[in-house]
Amino acid sequence: MLRYIPFEGWKQTANEVNYKYPISVNTNCPHCKVRVNYKLSWATRTKIVEYAKSSCPSCQKLSIFIFITKASGSGLSGDLFINPSGDVRHSLSGIEDAHGLSTGIKNAYYSTIQAFNGHQWIATTVLCRRVLEGIVKGIVNENGKNGSPILAQQLKQLPDQIDFSKPILTLADAIRKAGNIGAHFDEDKEPDQEVAESLMDVLDYLIEYLFILPSQIEQLHNKIEKLGQSDVQELDESE
Ligand SMILES: [Zn+2]
Repeated sequence: MLRYIPFEGWKQTANEVNYKYPISVNTNCPHCKVRVNYKLSWATRTKIVEYAKSSCPSCQKLSIFIFITKASGSGLSGDLFINPSGDVRHSLSGIEDAHGLSTGIKNAYYSTIQAFNGHQWIATTVLCRRVLEGIVKGIVNENGKNGSPILAQQLKQLPDQIDFSKPILTLADAIRKAGNIGAHFDEDKEPDQEVAESLMDVLDYLIEYLFILPSQIEQLHNKIEKLGQSDVQELDESE
């Protein structure tokens, strides 16, 4: 299995006649799970799919790197993959382009993934909380309501500042409207594959949000409560 290595892991690139590719990359070794730096010396230069082998500086085991080229601006670059995948957690797709999140929060999120993939469980939980703090603070400050500096209090203020129902109503309305267009014959307004695919995605989000996530969240919440009820409550009230 291939694992995608996000662009933030690229440490050094080469640029060969408008063809940009990584020659050094930081990622978790699929064998020992340590985050290491791999030097990439590409055996091929097909400008379609490239291939390189590199060994982990920590455990010395070999991994294979695949680079699938794609257009980038006026030149070529591509997507980088490692094999084996090593069963590591990926960053959320689309987070690189998420405008609402500051660079600082994105970096904290990437650090969280790195800590998790490095099997640093305590660091992961601390970093998760840090990312949450950053997200909530950003929303509270942006809306000019500099209320409590305590996270638990800020969380309670969130529904006053964000209309949580809006995205879900917009999703549902998009499905309804697109369905209407599909149901009535009109040659100029016929939904194509792209529209159908987007709509399937939207439908999946809706079902996930309404029926799958709530029970998963409930289960997770109960599990964390059981982990150490008194400790969790103490933190909750003081921070
Ligand atoms: Zn290794």
